[in-house]
Amino acid sequence: MPETSPQSTTTQVGGARQNHTTRIGRTYRFEAAHHLPNLPDGHRCKNLHGHNYRVEVIVRGALDSRGFIKDFAEIDAEIEPLLKLVDHRLLNEVEGLENPTAEIIAAWFFARITDCESVRVYENDDCWAEVTGR
Ligand SMILES: [Zn+2]
Repeated sequence: MPETSPQSTTTQVGGARQNHTTRIGRTYRFEAAHHLPNLPDGHRCKNLHGHNYRVEVIVRGALDSRGFIKDFAEIDAEIEPLLKLVDHRLLNEVEGLENPTAEIIAAWFFARITDCESVRVYENDDCWAEVTGR
């Protein structure tokens, strides 16, 4: 596992000394159904419906000897088993997602990804929730 740091890094870039923070991001998608049981009767999101979810994962850290924070393939290796748990599923049946709001889905992914700075979950093009940490 490459060493990472939450701090800004000072490195030589193109011969010039620069303070900066490097982050990488990767976007994933899955499709799933859900309903939000804690909403009052009559709220449309209490009804069973589905979304084409988009999940944006951001990782921050120092560059390793390869010049990577992380190989994107390493992020894929962590995310793909999680996507298998939620893709084409009723999210309410997934452990930890009994009340699958975008906020709780973002926290669910965030807790399961190493060196994760933030996870943003889009329910559609216009609505998202983000969990940030470290
Ligand atoms: Zn919904």
